[in-house]
Amino acid sequence: WGLWRWKALPPKMRELCRDRGIPVRDDYTLQAEPPAGREETVEIAGERTMEPDMAAQEPGGYDVDAIRRDFPILADIIYLDNAATSFSPEPVIAAMVEFEHRYRANVGRGVHRLTSIASHRYWHAHEKVAEFIGGKNGVTVFTKNTTESVNMVAQGLVWKTGDRVITTILEHHSNLLPWRRLARQGVATDSIGISPDYTLDLAALERAITESTRLVAVTQASNVLGVVTPVREIARICHGRGVLLLVDGAQAVPHLPVDVEELGCDFYCFSGHKMAGPTGTGVLWMKEPCIEPLVLGGGMVETVTADGYTPAQGYQQYEAGTPNIAGGIGLGVAVDYLQAIGMDRIHRYETDLTSRLIEMLSKNDRVRVYAPKDPAHRIGVVSFTVDGFHPHEVAQQIDEAADIMVRSGHHCCQPLVESLGLPGGTVRASLAFYNTRQEIDLLVATLDELTR
Ligand code: PMP
Repeated sequence: WGLWRWKALPPKMRELCRDRGIPVRDDYTLQAEPPAGREETVEIAGERTMEPDMAAQEPGGYDVDAIRRDFPILADIIYLDNAATSFSPEPVIAAMVEFEHRYRANVGRGVHRLTSIASHRYWHAHEKVAEFIGGKNGVTVFTKNTTESVNMVAQGLVWKTGDRVITTILEHHSNLLPWRRLARQGVATDSIGISPDYTLDLAALERAITESTRLVAVTQASNVLGVVTPVREIARICHGRGVLLLVDGAQAVPHLPVDVEELGCDFYCFSGHKMAGPTGTGVLWMKEPCIEPLVLGGGMVETVTADGYTPAQGYQQYEAGTPNIAGGIGLGVAVDYLQAIGMDRIHRYETDLTSRLIEMLSKNDRVRVYAPKDPAHRIGVVSFTVDGFHPHEVAQQIDEAADIMVRSGHHCCQPLVESLGLPGGTVRASLAFYNTRQEIDLLVATLDELTR
């Protein structure tokens, strides 16, 4: 990456300084003295690879201890709130620190070496993310989060009165409210329900599509029930009827191998911060750049004339203004990290943990679990309630008693939890690739203790 720079001034510059009387130090550096008592060296972990430290791992095995060494925070707590946000491993943090220490500059502007390095790395992060989701033929835009990605599509398509959008009861508010707001433009929303086993009612979805339906917006995995929806079948139905498909992949990308082209969707939205990337990072992938950019300004144009402008090509036209550069670069490293472990292996590992959790929770007759039966239709997001306790009480007590962090409440899915007859919501344990069997066992033991 040519990440070089001068410590001492090159000979030509030394002459120039001498001629102009610009003071330089004896070693021909322009750097200020470091504050007394402080070493000048800046330690960054950039020298190590961006891959998990899995050297000790057996072939084909899953060395969770090696992975956990990259997450020092896991030594102190049991973190089972990964559906809200996940932790970043050391290489992701190191990449962001390296940006700050070594080459912080704006991107897509100017030609000096720092901006070249920053631009290249930021651009490369887009490439890596696109490849990670099988989306190299589309446009991969960096956003703040899933919420922003969905809003960009809802606001960026051109609607007409009478258009309809189909969502489902499983949707997070972030994939519901942007569509509901379109009511102001005369666009109506329909909602599809679920079957008693929590799977999406595909026949109802097919029936709901009419001549007026423009778009179906569906989650690939529920952040409350952990149920996975049949996106490929939904895409077939949509495309047979000339309807666009947006998929909310916030809970799918961290846990399943995802190939957007194979899925057949038109838009795919997800959050970097739920997949070991930095907070403030998200992605909007589009098969075609068919939406209007929501924000205009610097960085998104090719040319600006006296009375018009030509937008840039590719992702740039959707990323006006200075983006979250360190975050974007960090997200690229998160992708490297997950790929080095392998999404297939992560999926298999988490499937085992999830089955163990559901099985063990179900043995306590005061605990009610809300999860699909078939492991093939679920991810490691497990909702439950405990008789006699409000979900918030459970979450607070197991935090105090055992340093276990779980989410409680309606999980930004109020229509769903109301429809399940659970106005107080649920307790939700959500897993990541760094969680362990022992952590699951401890959660269950703590709940058994609580109910005793
Ligand atoms: N969709 C789903 C399924 C989610 O789980 C979440 C986060 N809980 C979101 C959307 C919103 O994600 P973000 O807050 O990163 O925008």
